[in-house]
Amino acid sequence: KGLKTYFDINGGVLSKKVGEVKAVDGISFSMQEGEILGIVGESGCGKSTTGKSILRLIEPTAGEVRFNGEDIMQLSSENVRKLRRDMQIIFQDPYASLNPRHTVGKIIGEPLLVHGIGSKTERKQKVKELLETVGLRSEHAKRYPHQFSGGQRQRIGIARALAVNPKLIICDEPVSALDVSVQSQILNLMEKLKKEFKLTYLFIAHDLSVVKHISDRVGVMYLGKMVELANKDLLYDEPKHPYTKALMSAVPVPDPDIKQERVILQGDVPSPSNPPSGCAFHTRCPSCMDVCKTDVPIWQEVAPNHQVACHLYNETTKEENVI
Ligand code: SF4
Ligand code: MG
Repeated sequence: KGLKTYFDINGGVLSKKVGEVKAVDGISFSMQEGEILGIVGESGCGKSTTGKSILRLIEPTAGEVRFNGEDIMQLSSENVRKLRRDMQIIFQDPYASLNPRHTVGKIIGEPLLVHGIGSKTERKQKVKELLETVGLRSEHAKRYPHQFSGGQRQRIGIARALAVNPKLIICDEPVSALDVSVQSQILNLMEKLKKEFKLTYLFIAHDLSVVKHISDRVGVMYLGKMVELANKDLLYDEPKHPYTKALMSAVPVPDPDIKQERVILQGDVPSPSNPPSGCAFHTRCPSCMDVCKTDVPIWQEVAPNHQVACHLYNETTKEENVI
């Protein structure tokens, strides 16, 4: 709720602050146990920072993060460590996140060791089971990360995340670095594991087709803000926010009989260190009105399970402009 994560920019002189990047700028959403919430947006929109802030891998600047009712922001670092049993993360680049000098067995077993779970023999046994759970072989425990393909390395990353029986897994672009054929294998595995272990995923990606495939609901981020959030079908079939419409229009439709109107956005994404006033999307929005340049649109429900932040859907600001 109201999550903000700002970074200082130093002006070359140590500790001299010259500005800040509002990487995550006041976003609010909730998740139900067992659901997959997708988050999409272009690179630099704050998706990964949102995921890492929820886990407190990056300390948020303000806001509340509640997990099973408990405010994570108020926890001591010892209790945050305990909480990490319930919340795990899978990274985009499995190779960079696996220590190349450690065997796969050590990598997967590490979270168990950190949390003091089981004896050495029990941990070894658990690692073997985990390898099989993710479609690898128990003998693989003796090998090193470089001996595996990209897809296999992501399976290792998943096994490590699963080791401590988490409830929530933050998946930060888990298939973006993989070949398309391997992507679907990993997505299928993740769906299977979700059912088997009653997991909940926050699934971050820039690829709209991947997010559509796996998610129940999808949120769209732009320059540190959530601009729209809805059930998957609603969002993909009836996007409301002009930015979502533009994103969706770029997704190829497989049926050639369906006429597709592409919305081409003008200009680049503005710098998050100097975001536009009012609605941050106003510099590129085809529907921009005067009010958009000055007033930040409020986050509101436009239909059941469908929230959007845009003046086009705000009765007061919309009317002011129509007149
Ligand atoms: Fe476009 Fe205005 Fe809506 Fe922003 S608030 S998306 S500028 S119409
Ligand atoms: Mg990212």
